[in-house]
Amino acid sequence: MKILVTGGAGYIGSICVEQLLDLGHEVIVFDNFTEGHKNAIDPRAHLIVGELQHRDSIGAALTDMKPDAVMHFAANALVGESMQNPSKYFRNNVYGGMNLLDGMIENGVKRFVFSSTCATFGPPERVPIDESLPQRPINPYGESKLMFEKILRWYDEIHGLKFVSLRYFNAAGATEKYGEDHRCETHLIPNVLKVALGQKSHVEIYGTDYETPDGTCIRDYIHIVDLAQAHLLALEAKESAFYNLGTGGGTSVREVIAACEKVTGKKIPVVEKPRRPGDPPRLIASSAKIQRDLGWKPKFQSIEKIVESAWAWHVKHPQGYRD
Ligand code: UDP
Repeated sequence: MKILVTGGAGYIGSICVEQLLDLGHEVIVFDNFTEGHKNAIDPRAHLIVGELQHRDSIGAALTDMKPDAVMHFAANALVGESMQNPSKYFRNNVYGGMNLLDGMIENGVKRFVFSSTCATFGPPERVPIDESLPQRPINPYGESKLMFEKILRWYDEIHGLKFVSLRYFNAAGATEKYGEDHRCETHLIPNVLKVALGQKSHVEIYGTDYETPDGTCIRDYIHIVDLAQAHLLALEAKESAFYNLGTGGGTSVREVIAACEKVTGKKIPVVEKPRRPGDPPRLIASSAKIQRDLGWKPKFQSIEKIVESAWAWHVKHPQGYRD
């Protein structure tokens, strides 16, 4: 297939691009490089530097390339920033995404895989979180992704757009070539690994008084290759659907830090801080639906394996992508 990947220079997008190319697909990356990196793009991919906010920019890319399908990763994805600057999130994640969808419809492109998030749920009534739970986001980031999910439903009903929306839990890990390098790093695992690399003196733990066994937040960390695998299966899906995507296992902040100490052999000093606003205590996915419908199965079930792959990448790229 010929696949246009928006945000193909970002963390998750770049690894999906690599996996698509390995399977023999033709890939066009569409990225504006506000978050992504030039060196994160597999050289086998075709690159278009463009802007989703400009309808003509994405429209022309779709008309020129006539892809069979689109994978849409380009978005802003920081909860904290979205609480400071909601406009940025609604403009990029909703309006930018709509320009893409409209360009697809105009060009007869009807297959779409969307990068959604567990943040569309907000604090859950129960875990694991399955698709039947109500979606009540508590920040503009989650709201923007939920708004886009609702738009997708209508584009399917009215225009016949076939979509799969994948609600990721905590993406982590790396492949041999591509890994996690955010310009502003807020995520736990890369921040802990920066301490192991000697680039930071300590890691902060945001909240130690949660109602969890060790008092720190529990998350469902999913390896980036397992996540990419779900996108490949989604390309073949017969029906439009929303799927939650995690391993179903929960790991606390302290357990992540312990795994990093074990994998790196370095002591990680910690400083305990107050809770970070907007952090639910426990987010764990039920991925039963995607396992049943698409036959997806995660290969990396242990946090240590996930951290090992991330560490190998960080050791090779101590300064990240350098662009
Ligand atoms: N966290 C932390 N210190 C950090 C970064 C994150 O204690 O330097 C915590 C954060 O409060 C959350 C968990 O680690 O409970 C995972 O956070 P991350 O930002 O990696 O992902 P999120 O779950 O927010 O998408």
